[in-house]
Amino acid sequence: MENLNPDSVAVRGAHFIGGTWVDDRAGLEVRRPSDNRAYGELPVADAALVDRAVQNAWHAFRYGDWARRPPRERARVLRRWADLVEADASTLAPLESVGSTRPIRDALAWDVPFTAEGIRFFAELADKLGGEVAATRSDSLGMTIAEPYGMIGAIAPWNFPLVMASWKIAPALAAGNAVVLKPSELTPFSVLRLAELAIAAGMPPGIFNVVQGTGHETGDALVRHPRIAKVTFTGSTRTGAAIMAACAECGTKPVTLELGGKSPQIVFADAPDIDRAARMVAGAIAGNAGQVCVAGSRLIVQRGVAERLVDGIAGAFAALKAGPTWHADTTLPPIIRPSDAARIDGVVQRTVQAGAQIVTGGRLLAAAGDGGYYAPTILTGVHADMEAVRDEIFGPVLTVQTFDDDDEALALADHPAYGLASGLHTADIGRALRFARRLEAGTVWINRYGRSNDFVIPTGGYKRSGIGKDLGRQAYEANLRFKSVLVDFALPD
Ligand code: NAD
Repeated sequence: MENLNPDSVAVRGAHFIGGTWVDDRAGLEVRRPSDNRAYGELPVADAALVDRAVQNAWHAFRYGDWARRPPRERARVLRRWADLVEADASTLAPLESVGSTRPIRDALAWDVPFTAEGIRFFAELADKLGGEVAATRSDSLGMTIAEPYGMIGAIAPWNFPLVMASWKIAPALAAGNAVVLKPSELTPFSVLRLAELAIAAGMPPGIFNVVQGTGHETGDALVRHPRIAKVTFTGSTRTGAAIMAACAECGTKPVTLELGGKSPQIVFADAPDIDRAARMVAGAIAGNAGQVCVAGSRLIVQRGVAERLVDGIAGAFAALKAGPTWHADTTLPPIIRPSDAARIDGVVQRTVQAGAQIVTGGRLLAAAGDGGYYAPTILTGVHADMEAVRDEIFGPVLTVQTFDDDDEALALADHPAYGLASGLHTADIGRALRFARRLEAGTVWINRYGRSNDFVIPTGGYKRSGIGKDLGRQAYEANLRFKSVLVDFALPD
């Protein structure tokens, strides 16, 4: 595979409302994470423009036929959309890769096809899940009818711009809603192409819209808009809490929140293959340079195998190639902004000052380019109160804690705030299933770490890692509300 020329990727900073591009006064400069070069400008939708987008979508929802179409017809549009997304990989993947932290090889092999397949998964549910008939007295018929909310406000993060947005949009649209999406202001361009392809696939104009801008202005206006019936958000726990408060203030609006994590990877001495476990642990924290919500950032390892495992992880880190996303051989992409790389380094250095030791890494990688790059880092000699163990870093930083028995492992794995994901490696199926029951996390991976391509498995957090699920039938149903209908058909005497 050849390197990509980043300057060949042209972007247009605009909103997408009512099936067309809407140009607007530019308010923000957008930079390429790989070299920190400004390469596009972004408008910031104010409350008036958000209102225009939402009213337009409301009109399309209320007076158009999207929600009333036979579900299989909606599904057909979504399947066509997925096909167009897949066929558009040569445009979409470079757009995604240049503007984000996604290496071009991964964007082609995973982000674009995974986005398309996710759309297909939700299309398949459109006529599979609905209401039910209730067990009432025999002279009446009670039923629940599944209906779309109407208008869904979706807010997405920057770490996997296409995939994260598709997990919000696809179930909402399949269930018959209209959507107004605000992507992250750091990675705003690729979803515009997604919106354009939706129109090409036959989605009625106004059913899927994109408004651009900052969180505190555009995002807040979207969340609070009275026509937005439900909010679905992926991002940090702090922003999730602010959105939940806004939803409460403006009328107890329901909200789905996919938030941050500090996920443990537990390795027992009887792990089937310690070298394989080392490679997995390394991949689970270094993938996308640790900028993954489910990054396995806390290694909890049984004492007898700790040294061998840590050596294996350090070896896997050493084999990574830092570089811009447009290089075909890049396996360690940049940190989203140089300021975030500096923030990551700050956490590492303060944790070292508090007594931790650096096994490898612990420094910025200046030579990799003008973006912010950070060396994959292993910290030992840590305890639960240290900043690097306690806080989500969103970078390639792994802390190591050792244990002797199962109870100790479980106590270390429990995080006071987060409960997004967890992984464990053991050959003992009984122990694996005991831990699967007892770990306080929305997902438990056993002898693996990371999502599979099984869209049917939902993802979502316990505790402050979130409310509700993305993927699975749960995500589809979260875009429906249920109306109870009771028909009395007893004839008068
Ligand atoms: P962020 O919270 O800073 O921003 C996310 C989105 O919210 C952006 O579009 C932003 O503009 C918007 N926003 C910010 N303030 C807002 C406000 N007051 N009202 C409305 N919208 C607002 O998060 P980020 O830095 O983009 O993403 C990284 C975070 O996302 C990490 O914490 C990561 O763990 C989390 N994440 C979670 C999942 C999951 O599935 N649980 C997946 C990916 C990322």
